[in-house]
Amino acid sequence: MKTYKINEIFYSLQGEGFYTGTPAIFIRFSGCNLHCPYCDTDHSGGQMLTGPEILEEVEKYPSQHVVLTGGEPSLFIDREFIISLHSLGKFVAVETNGTNPLPGNMDWTTLSPKFDIQSSADLSIRECDEIKVIYRRQDMSIYSGITARHHFLQPCDTGDPEENRKLLEEAVEFCKEHPHWRLSLQTHKLIGIR
Ligand code: SF4
Repeated sequence: MKTYKINEIFYSLQGEGFYTGTPAIFIRFSGCNLHCPYCDTDHSGGQMLTGPEILEEVEKYPSQHVVLTGGEPSLFIDREFIISLHSLGKFVAVETNGTNPLPGNMDWTTLSPKFDIQSSADLSIRECDEIKVIYRRQDMSIYSGITARHHFLQPCDTGDPEENRKLLEEAVEFCKEHPHWRLSLQTHKLIGIR
């Protein structure tokens, strides 16, 4: 039986983007094809779980909203995996860096391209429900070729409070000047939850 390397499965509130505040079951896959310097995920740890073992864990929680995250979930998931979550009545959202194709039966795609790490030519996904850009003072015109229903700009958490404050101020100004973009904050960090 196929197994998946899972970093963790946990229940919390979505902290970022369109569904901020929504109770959600997070399935965090272990492993990514990029190596972003600001990545806050441990890619080395994790346990191998079968699909039924993952579903058993997911069924413990009452929310219908499931978020596949990582790491990079597109490296691991397939159509059958999404169907199995749908069979539990779940709404399945994925957070991806866009370098790898996704199964066609996702309910929601959050695209977070890392053009400071990867070439835009490497992008496999150019349409999504929401684009979430981690703002690090990059040229924002590089995202113009992506079609998204919702645009979120999220200041990078650099670990330096002064730099974080400057990035936040710049992101606020950018949204004010380009109002189809909205500010996304890591609200889970602000209120001290996972
Ligand atoms: S794409 Fe995401 S998960 Fe992968 S290294 Fe970058 S920040 Fe981490």
